Amino acid sequence: MDFTLSERETYFRDRVRAFIDQEIRPRQAEHDAQAHAGERWKVIPVIEACKEKAKAAGLWNFFMPPNSGQTHVDDTFPFEGTQLTNLEYALCAEEMGKVDWASEVFNCSAPDTGNMEVFHRYGTRDQKERWLGPLMRAEIRSAFLMTEPAVASSDATNIETSMIRDGDHYVINGRKWWSSGVGDPRCKVAIVMGKTDTSAKRHAQQSMILMPMDAPGVTIERMLSVYGYDHAPHGHGEVVMKDVRVPVENVLLGEGRGFEIAQGRLGPGRIHHCMRTIGVAETAIEAMAKRLLSRVAFGKRIADHSVWEQRIAKARIDIEMTRLLCLKAADMMDKAGNKSAQLEIAMIKVAAPNMALQILDDAIQAHGGGGVSQDFHLAHAWAAMRTLRFADGPDEVHNRAIARAEFGKYGDYAAERPVR
Ligand SMILES: Cc1cc2nc3c(=O)[nH]c(=O)nc-3n(C[C@H](O)[C@H](O)[C@H](O)COP(=O)(O)OP(=O)(O)OC[C@H]3O[C@@H](n4cnc5c(N)ncnc54)[C@H](O)[C@@H]3O)c2cc1C
Repeated sequence: MDFTLSERETYFRDRVRAFIDQEIRPRQAEHDAQAHAGERWKVIPVIEACKEKAKAAGLWNFFMPPNSGQTHVDDTFPFEGTQLTNLEYALCAEEMGKVDWASEVFNCSAPDTGNMEVFHRYGTRDQKERWLGPLMRAEIRSAFLMTEPAVASSDATNIETSMIRDGDHYVINGRKWWSSGVGDPRCKVAIVMGKTDTSAKRHAQQSMILMPMDAPGVTIERMLSVYGYDHAPHGHGEVVMKDVRVPVENVLLGEGRGFEIAQGRLGPGRIHHCMRTIGVAETAIEAMAKRLLSRVAFGKRIADHSVWEQRIAKARIDIEMTRLLCLKAADMMDKAGNKSAQLEIAMIKVAAPNMALQILDDAIQAHGGGGVSQDFHLAHAWAAMRTLRFADGPDEVHNRAIARAEFGKYGDYAAERPVR
């Protein structure tokens, strides 16, 4: 086992780190001023200016095309990106996680990353020309509409949105919520999951269809808040689809293949979140340490009260353990494929947000009243992080998969010794 990073791994990570230090972090105040002035749902100029620089520097679309062992021999294929491996991307994503608007600057932010992978893996040439190209050039943005308020959506077979074939069209009716990204005025397309055949087998009832957001019958009824934060200009909407007609060629991969696409989409998407989460934890431990070193209480620096040594040490241990698990999962995805890495992906999906939440909570505690205010970004980061314990699948669902694999090792034992 060799933990040394390759030249290519450090090459991209270091360039991303330097770009963030030189071009993004110094413009945080400018970003905040633009984000908070006037209209909430708008394009933020400083992000666009940084995007141009990132694109010119070749720091763009790192994950494209998804590294799946396929190589493109077709010179006319215009949908090429940097094609980092998951491991290489992990190191870059950790850096991006340190500033909450950084990943968009590199055109590597959710849900577009996952959606671009879906277009790339499953889209037809026409679908790619119409949607993937503009997404890769950051001319438009996209959304992924799966979750519904009426049903427990962590079980995708519960989804009720109906997609009924009518001649050359599908007619979509349903209500979605937590549709991330629909607040952005450039959000032009949604990948919608619904049911095309309720009489088919349980996992073959679902399809994914590309729905232009300006199609008649699509209404964003409201934007949701996360512990009071609106996450503008990206946002999370509740979207109603009433008799929305989309041409049959908008179906992805084929009728009844929606469940399969959902499984494929969430693997890499999950790991991207985990990688950024480690970056968030790094910024939290840094903020905590600096604060503890700079304040005095009861006659000594707060850092010198032993309880804080314990908390800082635990935070550092947890970050290191989590990073190793994340890199292991990414490496397995590269070497053995997403399916073989399923358990590692499940483990890191549970471990990373819980680890970061604890460190953010300690950092908030270290800051006293300041910690819960808008001055230190910790409360905002905690609120956003909290959602990752159920977004992309709740902890319980992933733990169930991990536990079943563990019990599975001892299946014979149970058969040999009946329960007493
Ligand atoms: C900020 C944010 C952004 C999001 N973005 C998107 C998006 O872009 N597109 C999209 O489609 N969705 C999105 N979601 C929705 C998210 O994916 C869902 O909230 C998640 O899948 C859970 O579904 P649910 O809310 O219906 O909860 P439910 O399915 O009702 O589950 C509720 C709870 O039940 C428990 N539970 C569920 N299954 C089990 C089990 N097997 N064993 C034990 N307990 C269980 C868990 O504790 C779970 O949290 C987003 C959510 C948030 C908060």
